[in-house]
Amino acid sequence: AHMSATSSLLTVSPDRARRIFDDIEEQFRLDRDALIKITEQFLTDFRLGLSEYNQAMAMIPTFVTGVPNGTETGTFLALDLGGTNLRVCEVQLLGNHQFHLRQQKYKVSEALKTGEASALFDYLADSVDAFLTEIGSESPTMPPTSDPFTSSPSLLDMTQQPSIPLGLTFSFPVEQTALDQGKILTWTKGFSAKNAVGHDVVQLLQDAFNRKHLHVRCVALVNDTVGALLSRAYSAGGCILGSIFGTGTNGAYLERVENIKKLGDSPARQKGGFMVVNTEWGGFNNSRTVLPTTSFDNKLDRESINPRLQAFEKFISGMYLGEITRNVLLSLIDAAPRPLLFNGKSSDDLNRHYGLDTAVMSEIEEAWEVGREDPLSGHSDAPKVNGVRPDWQFMHFTDVDKLPHEDVVRLERIRGIITQRMGISASDVSLTDAAIVRWAVSLVAERAAKLSGCAVAAVLVQTERARIGGGFVPDEERIIIGVDGSLIQHYPNFGTKLRDSIRSLVGAEVEQRVDIGLAKDGSGVGGQFAIYLRLDYRS
Ligand code: BGC
Ligand code: MG
Repeated sequence: AHMSATSSLLTVSPDRARRIFDDIEEQFRLDRDALIKITEQFLTDFRLGLSEYNQAMAMIPTFVTGVPNGTETGTFLALDLGGTNLRVCEVQLLGNHQFHLRQQKYKVSEALKTGEASALFDYLADSVDAFLTEIGSESPTMPPTSDPFTSSPSLLDMTQQPSIPLGLTFSFPVEQTALDQGKILTWTKGFSAKNAVGHDVVQLLQDAFNRKHLHVRCVALVNDTVGALLSRAYSAGGCILGSIFGTGTNGAYLERVENIKKLGDSPARQKGGFMVVNTEWGGFNNSRTVLPTTSFDNKLDRESINPRLQAFEKFISGMYLGEITRNVLLSLIDAAPRPLLFNGKSSDDLNRHYGLDTAVMSEIEEAWEVGREDPLSGHSDAPKVNGVRPDWQFMHFTDVDKLPHEDVVRLERIRGIITQRMGISASDVSLTDAAIVRWAVSLVAERAAKLSGCAVAAVLVQTERARIGGGFVPDEERIIIGVDGSLIQHYPNFGTKLRDSIRSLVGAEVEQRVDIGLAKDGSGVGGQFAIYLRLDYRS
């Protein structure tokens, strides 16, 4: 049946088609030298951000000066506004690296993302109210019944302290001036609510609680990366980096306070020791001097609501990978003088801005990997011989008939995904087209994973655990990293490719010691840890 769709490639001279594919592949290619250059630039920008305010990579001091070790206990309330979800959680730490979590997810509509900030924060307050009403009625443990810090009576009994303390996990850049204070620097990930940037996010939330006469007090604020770091530290007994590879991307790591030069001689700096720094690495290299920008990236950036900002994030995160891929596919559909994909026919989905979800890429990669022992790389890294890569993917496009039966079955499945999830009619999708889509998807995703490795490697070097090029073995048995987000959790082989990239940058000896693990419910648990650090919140 699949043969009813003719291969678009056959209508174009193979040489010409090949040149077009080769050119795209070349644009996405990232060799080790390029990765090294990017990692070096990361280190330069880390230092710049640590020394001066208002840098593209903000390097925000978080005022979090320690990490949990897993023995902490207590029950608290946390609110998590991420890129995709809004969650209210009640977290109960059991003190043995384990916790119980009850949570409720709420949707944030486009109207709330882009309307007045007060409406968005009213919605956050309403969600907390709804959660307290629901959970409160079925759970005697809410509000918190024990106080982990002192022998004072439970918060419930403390009539002089009627407010329930809440930790806010806010997944956007905030220039913090204290653990419970900070101005929103900019929105990211498609948010653009008015009258928020430049305002104190804790105050915005507290005002909303007050407007609704809710007895809840926001006592601490953390970024989701900080939440990931704290949560992994609680489960693993330590952690040096929390990072998110999801709708957005970012990392927070433990830095020596003495290196955070921009703190001047403030009390926080004088205290010394370590502080978690929220890098906001999504804004790395906004000038794009080292990022391998393609025409497809430029189109994405130009059409985004924050052009020239969050450059690194736009190469990496789930919000954008589908869009880059959509741009590549459209260029092939529109190729002149003859189309190179889907008989030149697009669909409503593919024509719509952000109309290709990164989750569809996941499905395609999964279909291609199914039953394989060793994951195949998206494209060949083999060097060119006389300007030609010997095992070039073009073979897969032109000679699908010669592929082993299992691969044909895989392509059939991908063909099904394309018709169902991209809305292209079956008669316009050949197996060759399926192979081309798979190739495009993997080019985009593999580049994202490699670049992600640069960010992690840069933190290893910055914290003196590794050297670019390798050859330095740290004392630590395990270098513990906490990760969270849809890409790292669900995108096939993203983690493997990220590790490959780290290894190529800092060598196998260091890479083997890196223990990358899921920061379980990092945003919820992390928000509540921040409360821990606010021992003074009752005053
Ligand atoms: C935000 C960060 C956040 C990251 C992951 C980025 O867009 O700027 O603050 O940590 O997304 O959610
Ligand atoms: Mg999140």
